[in-house]
Amino acid sequence: MEKVGLALGSNLGDRIDILQKASKLLVDNLESRHCLASGVYETAPLDCPPGSPSFYNAVIELETDLPPLELLTVCQDIEQRLGRPLQHEFNAPRTVDIDILYYGEESVTTDRLTVPHPRMEARAFVQLPLSEIRPDLAELDSLSDIHLCQRLEHPLFP
Ligand code: ATP
Ligand code: CA
Ligand code: CA
Repeated sequence: MEKVGLALGSNLGDRIDILQKASKLLVDNLESRHCLASGVYETAPLDCPPGSPSFYNAVIELETDLPPLELLTVCQDIEQRLGRPLQHEFNAPRTVDIDILYYGEESVTTDRLTVPHPRMEARAFVQLPLSEIRPDLAELDSLSDIHLCQRLEHPLFP
C-alpha cells in the first residue's frame, strides 16, 4: 500500500457537489481505508480564458495498491464520469480535474505521468489544502498567489 496525494479542482457546474462526488468515487474505487481530506478552497482563475468561473480546490490522501499509471487511469475515468471530456483544450473550464501530487516517495517520469506533480510547489490552491492534511509536505512560504485562495465552509465529505 502506498499513500497517495490527489489534488481536485472544479470550475464548471455544481462545483462543491462535483468535488464531493469525485472524492467519494476515489475512496470507493481505490477501496482506501485511509483518508485525509482537506477543506475546500475557492481560487480565482489564473491563466484561464476570460470569464472563466473560479475554482473550488481540495486535496485528499488515500492509500492504494494500484501502480501509478493505473491510479492515473482511475482518476481520468472519474473525470470522464463526472463530465470532463477526455480530449479537452488546455486550461478550458472543467467539471473536475484530478492530479496525482505524490505517490508514496516514488518518482515517476513517463509520457503520461510525472510524479511528484511538477507544478504543485508553486500553487497556493495545492499547498494550502495540503498543509491541512500533510503539513510535513507543504511549503507555504514564497507563494505568490496565496491571496487568490479562500477557505470555504463546505466539507469535502458531507
Ligand atoms: P496541470 O498538470 O498543469 O495542473 P491540467 O491538470 O489542466 O494541468 P490536464 O489537461 O488535466 O492538465 O492533463 C494533461 C495530462 O497530464 C494528462 O493527460 C496526464 O497524462 C498528464 N499528467 C502528467 N503528470 C500527471 C499527474 N501527476 N497527475 C495527473 N496527470 C498528469
Ligand atoms: Ca491540474
Ligand atoms: Ca490534470
